[in-house]
Amino acid sequence: MAKRVVILGGGVAGISAAVQAVQRGWQPVVLERTPHLGGRARSFFDKSLGCILDNGQHALSASYNETLSLLKTLNATDLIRWQRGLDILYRFEGQRTFRMKSMPLPAPLHFLLPLLLKAPLTRPDRRFLWHFGKKLPFSRGEDLRDLTVSQWLAQAGNAPFLQNLLWEPLTLATLNTPLHQASAELLFTVLQQAFLSAHSRSGLGIPAAGLSGLFGDPATAFLAEKNAIIRLSTAAKALIGDSGQVKGIKTRSGEEIFGDAVISTLPHHALAAVLGESPVAGAVSLNLDQLRDSPILTIYLKLSAPLPGPFPAALVASPLQWLFESSGETANLYAGVISDAREFLGQSRESILNMVVREIRRFYGLNLTPMLAGFKLIAEKRATILQTPATNRLRPGVKTPLRGFFLAGDWVHTGLPATIESAVLSGRLAVEALADL
Ligand SMILES: Cc1cc2nc3c(=O)[nH]c(=O)nc-3n(C[C@H](O)[C@H](O)[C@H](O)COP(=O)(O)OP(=O)(O)OC[C@H]3O[C@@H](n4cnc5c(N)ncnc54)[C@H](O)[C@@H]3O)c2cc1C
Repeated sequence: MAKRVVILGGGVAGISAAVQAVQRGWQPVVLERTPHLGGRARSFFDKSLGCILDNGQHALSASYNETLSLLKTLNATDLIRWQRGLDILYRFEGQRTFRMKSMPLPAPLHFLLPLLLKAPLTRPDRRFLWHFGKKLPFSRGEDLRDLTVSQWLAQAGNAPFLQNLLWEPLTLATLNTPLHQASAELLFTVLQQAFLSAHSRSGLGIPAAGLSGLFGDPATAFLAEKNAIIRLSTAAKALIGDSGQVKGIKTRSGEEIFGDAVISTLPHHALAAVLGESPVAGAVSLNLDQLRDSPILTIYLKLSAPLPGPFPAALVASPLQWLFESSGETANLYAGVISDAREFLGQSRESILNMVVREIRRFYGLNLTPMLAGFKLIAEKRATILQTPATNRLRPGVKTPLRGFFLAGDWVHTGLPATIESAVLSGRLAVEALADL
């Protein structure tokens, strides 16, 4: 008989689990607290700027196999603008630039050579990079388990300029965690996937339509057609079950929904609340209270004239870490991104705008104020978990000690940083674990 599986949360992980479930001929029942699917990867119409905005700028990597496969199923691959290989413009104070374009060469030469030949590096930087790049393919992630990125680089004899040019932008963009806290093992995984494989897998993909056009909307249509049940504006409150066997979920409005199994794709804090209300969870301890979140601030700028490209641009040693150009229909719309934005959360709009105006003057030599037609700040306080060696060890797998209860979500242990790719993979792994029962 077809399994009925209750999926808590309709973000990317919930969508992935539901798609995997219907592909096995099961019936998923997706419970989502908000009125839409998509979770932390969604878009909305912003009245003040008069256009569709994402809840924060996202970039995908051509190495995201799981995500690409999901988007193919949802018929949404055309909604991404892909680079052919990595192509980033580094901007330095005073308008100097360096365009990092990977070369069609075997890894790791495809990204080492452009850096060694064209980047404004000192001799010690080049020497470090050459030796580090040569050793990288023979390194093992597990040897880095207890190290932060700073410790790893210090052990390898890092040169300071490379820290600003390479390690800081890369670590913040992929782990949303500062170098002195970030897990070296996870950064190694990023390097392995994006830089130690083919040149074609090193490029970025920028969503060309809003994120909801990529995930939430096509998933809603696909799942509805396959007779999945999607319950929006429905929040899970507590697990139902007995003797350690989970049988369903009680919602906050008191409704009871039963299934053969429950897959939680909730963020860790929402899962902790549900487990706290669930007698069946008993003494199950996932140490969720030890996980911490890290914010991302996106600053949308609508301008009356274009900024000099190309994009994305990494502003070296600037608090305004990245600038992206919107690839949607709105002209001259840009997104400034600040990862690990803890120090900005308490600041006023004015003070953040002043910082942006100052940085645009420093890096582009332009006065932003007369060009500014609109400005929108989006602070996602719980953008991702803080990804340290300690928190990486705490991430639970998809199986739990409770029978019929599985976990997914970007933050569970997938071996990947907490990203869209991890969320999609976790959904598949949870469904596979359930199928194995
Ligand atoms: C600003 C920003 C920028 C980012 N940039 C990138 C990027 O460039 N590249 C990248 O790969 N990743 C990026 N990420 C991370 C990426 O968005 C997440 O990893 C991914 O969306 C997480 O998906 P998820 O399904 O695991 O979690 P979520 O999207 O959080 O989904 C969980 C869902 O559960 C719902 N929910 C919560 N409580 C309940 C309840 N009690 N009952 C029912 N439903 C509930 C929530 O509403 C939510 O929809 C970024 C994130 C942010 C915020």
